[in-house]
Parts: sequence; C-alpha cells; structure tokens
Amino acid sequence: MDKRASQTKPDTWRMKWISQPLLKLFKKVTPSMSQTEREALDAGSVWWDGELFSGKPKWKKLLAFPAPALSAEEQAFIDGPVNELCKMIDDWDLTNHRGDLPQEVWQFIKDNGFLSMIIPKEYGGLDYSNLAHSEVVMKVATRSISAAVTVMVPNSLGPGKLILEYGTKEQKDYYLPRLAKGQEIPCFALTAPDAGSDAGSIPDYGIVCKQDYQGKKDVLGMRLNWNKRYITLGPVATLLGLAFKLYDPDHLLGDEENLGITLALIPTDIPGVDIGRRHMPLNMTFMNGPNYGKDVFVPLDSIIGGPERAGQGWRMLMECLSDGRGISLPALSVGAGKLCSRVVGAYSRVRRQFKMPIGRFEGVEEALARIGGNTYMMDAARTLTLSALDLGEKPSVISAIVKYHLTESMRKVVNDAMDIQGGAGICLGPRNLIGRGYQALPISITVEGANILTRSMIIFGQGAIRSHPYIFQEMEAMIDENEAESLIKFDRALMAHIYFVFRNFWRTLIHGLTAGFLIRNPGKGVTRRYYQKLTRMSAAFALVADMALMMLGGSLKRKEKLSGRLGDVLSELYLASAILKRFEDQGRPKEDVPLLRWSLDQTLYRMQMALYGLLKNMPMKPISLFMIRVVFPWGRPFSPPSDRLGHEVANLLLNPSEARDRLTKGMYMPDAADEQVVKLEDALQKVIQVEEIEKRMRNALREFDPGFAGMDGLIEKAVADKVITRQEADAVRAAEAARSDVIQVDDFPLDLGKEA
Ligand SMILES: Cc1cc2nc3c(=O)[nH]c(=O)nc-3n(C[C@H](O)[C@H](O)[C@H](O)COP(=O)(O)OP(=O)(O)OC[C@H]3O[C@@H](n4cnc5c(N)ncnc54)[C@H](O)[C@@H]3O)c2cc1C
Repeated sequence: MDKRASQTKPDTWRMKWISQPLLKLFKKVTPSMSQTEREALDAGSVWWDGELFSGKPKWKKLLAFPAPALSAEEQAFIDGPVNELCKMIDDWDLTNHRGDLPQEVWQFIKDNGFLSMIIPKEYGGLDYSNLAHSEVVMKVATRSISAAVTVMVPNSLGPGKLILEYGTKEQKDYYLPRLAKGQEIPCFALTAPDAGSDAGSIPDYGIVCKQDYQGKKDVLGMRLNWNKRYITLGPVATLLGLAFKLYDPDHLLGDEENLGITLALIPTDIPGVDIGRRHMPLNMTFMNGPNYGKDVFVPLDSIIGGPERAGQGWRMLMECLSDGRGISLPALSVGAGKLCSRVVGAYSRVRRQFKMPIGRFEGVEEALARIGGNTYMMDAARTLTLSALDLGEKPSVISAIVKYHLTESMRKVVNDAMDIQGGAGICLGPRNLIGRGYQALPISITVEGANILTRSMIIFGQGAIRSHPYIFQEMEAMIDENEAESLIKFDRALMAHIYFVFRNFWRTLIHGLTAGFLIRNPGKGVTRRYYQKLTRMSAAFALVADMALMMLGGSLKRKEKLSGRLGDVLSELYLASAILKRFEDQGRPKEDVPLLRWSLDQTLYRMQMALYGLLKNMPMKPISLFMIRVVFPWGRPFSPPSDRLGHEVANLLLNPSEARDRLTKGMYMPDAADEQVVKLEDALQKVIQVEEIEKRMRNALREFDPGFAGMDGLIEKAVADKVITRQEADAVRAAEAARSDVIQVDDFPLDLGKEA
C-alpha cells in the first residue's frame, strides 16, 4: 500500500470532493457480479502475473524462483513404468481397431498408480510433484493422446482432487485408497446440454428431502436429477463427481431455499443412475459420454466436504480447475510440440524433393522455425507454471494463460508439422506419428474452458481484477456495507491507483523515448536487451490497461475484442518471462540462443501488435492517437523473428545436437528397431553420414545419366570411376534404404483392414 495513502483521514476534502463522488459513480456503472463470477474471481492466487501488471517486474524475483526438479523416485517412475506403458501401447491399434485400451493396459495403469499421482502416500497414492505429473502426461502423450487423456483426467479435475482438497475425513479414508488402487474409476460431470461454457447455469438439481435408505428410516439426503454430456471416463466410471444446484424448499437445513452449486460423490451402481453410452470424440478412444440421473437419492454426507460445503461447489471447482488447467493440457501440448520437433525435423532432412532435403527449402524452413521456436516457448511456460504450483500457488490467471496459449501453439505446431509431412501426414496408419494428434487438436482447444472464451473473457477479465495491484481492493471497498469503512478503503486504493497510473505514464513515455536503454536489469549478453524491452512493455501494458478500464469501465467486459487483446499482452509478457527463466535455469546454453531469440522476438512482436491493435480500436480517437504516441513515440520498434534467425532454428531441428535433445527431452523414445521414430532417427544419422560422399559423387558425375538404373547406377559408376570407395558405396546404399523406408505410407485392403 502507498505510504501516503495509509495516512489518509476520513474527513479530508479529497474524500469529500474526489473519492466519495467517484465511489458513487463506480457503484452505479460497475456491472453487478453474480455469485458464481465472484467466486471465480476469488479463487486462486496472484503470482508473477501481479509483477507483470505492476509495470515494473522484479526480474531478480523471477530468477530466484526455484526451477522444479524431479525426485529420484519420480525419475525412476518415468524411466520405468511410464516407458513400459508407452511400450505396451499401439496407438494405431487403439484408435483404428479396438476403440478402448486393452484390458492389460488398463490393469497396468491401475496397478502402477497412474491414476493416483496426486494422492498422498498415506492413502496409497504416488504423491508426485506437479512436475512429475506433467512429465508423465507429456511422455504418454507423445505415444498416444487417448492413453494420456485416460491417465490425466483422474489426476486433474476428477473427484480425487476435490476429495483431497475439501473431502471429509470419512470421504478421504474411504475413497482415496480405492482411487489409488484403481478400485474406483472416477469422472467429473459438470457440463450439461444447455450449460457448456456457461457452466454456472447448470439446470441439474437436487432437492433436500428425507427418504428411507439402505434399511434406515427417514435419512436426510438429496433427490437428484441430471442430464450431463461429454463426460470423460463417464461411460466406465464407478464414482461420479456430480455438480448440481441444491434447493431446500422444506427448510430441512435452514432458512435458505436456494443453496447454490454443490458437488457430490455418486456411486454409479445405485438406482436411477444411467451411464454406459459413448460419444466419439474425433476418433480418440478414451471413454467419453453422457450420463443421466432420475430421482437418485443419496444421503447428505455424499456432498464433497459434507453438508457444510453445500452451495460452495463453484468456488471449489474454480480452485481445482486453476491447478488442472496449469498441468494436464499444457503437458499434452508440449508433448505434441516435442514429438513434432523431433520427427518432423528428421523427416525434413531425410525427405528429398528437387534433389534436396525439403528442410533446406526456405518455405519449409519457416514452418520448421515455428515448430522449434513455439515448442521452446511452450516448454518454458509449462515449466515456469509448474514452479508456481510446486511452490503451493494457485495461479488462476496464469493457468488460464497457459491453457489457452499452449493449446493454441500446439495447434500451430501440429498444423505446420502436417504441412511439412504432406501426404505422409494425411494417410493414417502405424507409420503416421502426427495424424491422430492433428485430429485430436480441437479437444484440447475446447475442454477446461473453450479457448475463445478463455482468451476473450477470462484472461484479462480475471487478470484485471485479480492481478492488478489496486482494482480488487477498490472493488472490495465498493461492496463493503459499512459506508464509512467503504469510503476509507476506496479512497486509499484510489489514491494509490492514481499515483500508479501517473508513474506508469511517465515510465512508458521515457522508456519509449529511450527505447528502454536506461532500464536496469539482471540480464547480460544476449538477454540484457530483452529484459529492458519487456520492462518497457510491462509499463505500457499497465498504463493502457488502466486507461481502457477508465474509458470503458464495466462495458470492457462485453468488448471482448479489446479485452482479448489486453489478455494477449499480459499472456505474451508471461510467455516471454518463462522463456528467459528457462534459458537462465538451464545455464544459458549457447546452442539454444537461436531458440531463445526466435521465441522472444515472436512474443515481443505479438504483444506490440496486440497493444497497437487495441489502441487503434479504442472508442475515443484523440485519446487513442495520443496514447499511440506515448507508447510508441518512434513508431513500432519490434519485428518478427528475422529470416536468418529462422534459418538457425530450423537447422537445430535438422541436425542431431544437444539443443535438439534438450528441446525434445521427456518425449518417449522407443527402442525397437521397427518403430517409426527409431527408423527416422536411424535414417537421419545415415543420411547425414553420407551427405559429403553423395555430394562428391554428384559433382564428379554431373554429366552422367544413369537412366532407369537410378541411384544404384550412379553408385556403381562412382565406384568404377573411383570417385567413392566400395565402403562408401555401401554407406550410401544403406542411407538410401533407410530413407526409402521412412518415407513410405501405409496402405490397406479395400475394407481398410477392419476385418483383420
Ligand atoms: C472430449 C471432451 C471431454 C470433456 N470432458 C468433460 C468432463 O470430463 N467433464 C465435464 O464436465 N465436461 C467435459 N467436457 C465439456 C467441456 O468442458 C465443454 O465442451 C466446454 O466447456 C465448452 O462447452 P460447449 O462444448 O457446450 O461449447 P459452448 O459453450 O456452446 O461454446 C461454443 C463456443 O462459444 C464460445 N463462447 C461461449 N461463451 C463465450 C463468451 N462469453 N465469450 C466468447 N466466446 C464464448 C466458446 O469459446 C466456444 O468456442 C468435455 C468436452 C469434450 C469435447
């Protein structure tokens, strides 16, 4: 709190003439907030997002956050059972033939605790860190999205998490050991046909009543009716976490009739529960389907956390969602990025057209650079967010940022990978490592807060209130029912806020005029200027955010094109912070510099364009033109990554190197020689080994046309002319065989092999 503000007395002229009228005005123009919106805002904590909103981020603080690390036990699990699980999975067989995981895979998942990564050891769970949880999901995702989704759901929003956080002792003692051993298959059912994004409006309900139950008379409980859809693991679940609205018309619990959203644990084998039908989410084989309940009676102690938690369901959900969003879907997205970087990089070097590896064409190089640069950024954001979670934070705004940006970046990366693979990406089969991931893209985009909504409504909508240093205080002051207290609190927050705006105005202008060169920062060498540029943009963002809020007030909530752009700037600032942190934490590896620079240049350019787009589209032209001059006094300074930088990033993907290994660390690398990933790696090595020999041969025999004898004819002639040795000829033949093998695509009999 600002020092001067803390000395404020309630009877000052300032309060009378400034704060009081403004408080009245704000109360009038601020849109009313529903209970569910309020609870969503209250949920979670503010972390690095608060620094970015301050306009003056303390970079040393960022660098001091410990980088998350796996324990020896976690590493052994990833090297052992996780590799074993990946080995057991044949994704093509799953998605094309079986439509479900084989029984032995289900059993392996249950027996080895894959469904219990978040459950403490005292209940028989693995009790892994968030990093370990993420690494497991990420590795499995590089093998099979269907298997990864099966593993991730019980470890995220499934009722396990809710029981852990809020369950009664009895619920924990009974359910957690059963969940840990896989004796219960959990699912969580919130979404209803009329309540998707607007999940707070679920029509599913429970009525508090008394009924005879399991031989006991007049048990106090709830009669539930619901109609849910899209529920993952729902068709096979034994334990359903259910969200519904609870009503108490007979006042059996108290005065209140409408208690609000409540969460309960429903065994799926009790009368009235109807499960078992499936949806078919884009050819994936994880279980997903609708479920229904007709007059299902359960006692009140089925409420997660017991009867005293009746009506607190929304807040509980929001808090758990903020964890889940930061772990599972980012892990899945980064897995896709790593897989594409590794296999499409290799494919681009091995696949030839016009007598050249396709990766050497500038057009393909551009797509490769996007794959590498975005994967570097995604992995950095994943890791930084896990640091926050492992520190015990519940960073709701940051979780929304990584959910949105990592799934969107995955979409870009996989699209680029598909383009580079051409027909080999399109024709499905065991050789195609990307096609199923491409099909699954919209799933991550839609679940856990559909992306359009997350970008345009949640990131800035929640960020402006939660992460802004003063707005939450002002809002709390506005709803304080004690008028005098309300005015004092509002006045303090307002004065500090005004000082904050002026400070950011001058800082934005001065940093703009001096291009940020005067900003002190902990960077050195290649990173120094980036810290300066980001501090400059953070000040500009804080200023423009306040200006937008002042000009548009509560209507900014409906102006999603504007608030979406503000969310973009905040997000890019977070992504850029994560990139710098990763580079520093990994010991500033020199070979990673192109990845660092490419991804930072991209984030800076994108945040600049979002800010510029916002200012251009603000409703009051003179103010917006003035602000453009303040923020960008010499014009827009940032450019997208240069062609040269893109070339360097693409090169990292085309060559085996430490940087390539670091970028793709954590993906599953099979060892069987007939696996497509292994064949690609082998072909890459062989093709590189003979590149010099091939060049020599082609240069010497430029005039020679082998005709139908093709490559073999050329090799024979080169040996006969002593251009290459017999041994070299063998190496070229081996490389050709490896190359020819990995560019093949699968074909099937007329029935596509369904009968086999
Ligand atoms: C494969 C799969 C698994 C799922 N698993 C579960 C599960 O286990 N449990 C569960 O409860 N639910 C689950 N869901 C449901 C999921 O959470 C919803 O699909 C999601 O919330 C979106 O709802 P909707 O599909 O009805 O889309 P809609 O709500 O109809 O939204 C349609 C579009 O409108 C946009 N939109 C809506 N409102 C706004 C707004 N205010 N501003 C901007 N854009 C907006 C959305 O972003 C979206 O693009 C799953 C869904 C799928 C597809």
